[in-house]
Amino acid sequence: MNVDYIIVGLGLAGLAFTEELERNHKSYVVFEDNSQNSSLVAGGVYNPVILKRFTPVWDALDQLKSALPFYQSLEKKLNTQFDFPIDIYRVFTSIEEQNNWFNACDKPFFEKYMIAEVVKNHNEYINAPFGFGHITNTGKIDTKALLQSYRNYLVEKNKLFNESFDYDSLQLENNEVVYKNFNSKQIVFCEGYGVVKNPFFKSIPLKEAKGELLTIHAPELKLEVIIKSSVFIMPLGDSYYKIGATFNWTDKTLHPTKEAKEELIKKLNKVITVDYKVVGQSAGIRPTVKDRRPILGRHSTYKQLAILNGLGTRGVMLAPKLAKQLYDCLENNKELDAVININRFEG
Ligand SMILES: Cc1cc2nc3c(=O)[nH]c(=O)nc-3n(C[C@H](O)[C@H](O)[C@H](O)COP(=O)(O)OP(=O)(O)OC[C@H]3O[C@@H](n4cnc5c(N)ncnc54)[C@H](O)[C@@H]3O)c2cc1C
Repeated sequence: MNVDYIIVGLGLAGLAFTEELERNHKSYVVFEDNSQNSSLVAGGVYNPVILKRFTPVWDALDQLKSALPFYQSLEKKLNTQFDFPIDIYRVFTSIEEQNNWFNACDKPFFEKYMIAEVVKNHNEYINAPFGFGHITNTGKIDTKALLQSYRNYLVEKNKLFNESFDYDSLQLENNEVVYKNFNSKQIVFCEGYGVVKNPFFKSIPLKEAKGELLTIHAPELKLEVIIKSSVFIMPLGDSYYKIGATFNWTDKTLHPTKEAKEELIKKLNKVITVDYKVVGQSAGIRPTVKDRRPILGRHSTYKQLAILNGLGTRGVMLAPKLAKQLYDCLENNKELDAVININRFEG
């Protein structure tokens, strides 16, 4: 069977690229083996402000211009809500931080997002004597619902194969690839941290970071915004909250750990003083590149092979714009920006 594209991996990167193909009426098949779950467990937050230092997220405004309409159009296509706008309250730890906040508010980049005032804390169960900085026009994508819904959509169209892509079975012919009974002019690898098993791209300089989250039930907390302190507390509805996230650069396993649970509980107990119950824990590996930028483009030798990876900590905002950039590169020979091009690590 001839197809225009084979896609390996259906996390946020693979989904965004597949959708780009759909929009351009290209034929494709997708292989997904559930070996990684960064996109499934992600908090899903989109926010252009780095909350540690009140500085801009790289390229954020442009990414949001692609991302928000992208998720809205998927909501229509799949008839499900995925985008949940929600504001963020950053807990201040000192007067100095409040001053830094006001300084940042003066910058045009933050005009639409940072509100130039200190919000007083009225929630008796939150520890925030210096108040909060209020960030608006932010939100979260329910990535789990989105991926499940998109997978169902592809299954119905017979385009999703629930199996591991077997790199040894890939044959590289002159201008195409042959994989089992598929002939394709191009293959795009979107395996997240799974790329370490890909013999064609295994040398990309990843600096992956395992992340873990807790789900708690806290009926008295009654939050309607995301609280960001040393952890974030994200309302999920019905008094459930997601608490996250850890960063671990040495553990490459996918399972939740006792250490991460203890770390999150310790930090959480400094922010809230209400009774709660831990009801869940999840873990995933963020595919972060050493220079903290995504990694896109064709293989230096085998032009039929391409990669879309390195979404790191911000896959929600990055994936739609990057998928379009990669598509324009592969189909229209449009040069990729040097900062995201895989060739920055070659030669
Ligand atoms: C705890 C945590 C919290 C996060 N919070 C946020 C957040 O709030 N906002 C945000 O924007 N980002 C967040 N992220 C980051 C975000 O999850 C990632 O940037 C993004 O999910 C990466 O997507 P991906 O598609 O590149 O990789 P993945 O999600 O890892 O997807 C890769 C897919 O490829 C499949 N695969 C791999 N190898 C093969 C193979 N050989 N054959 C078939 N299939 C294969 C895997 O099963 C997987 O489904 C968070 C991440 C973690 C871990």
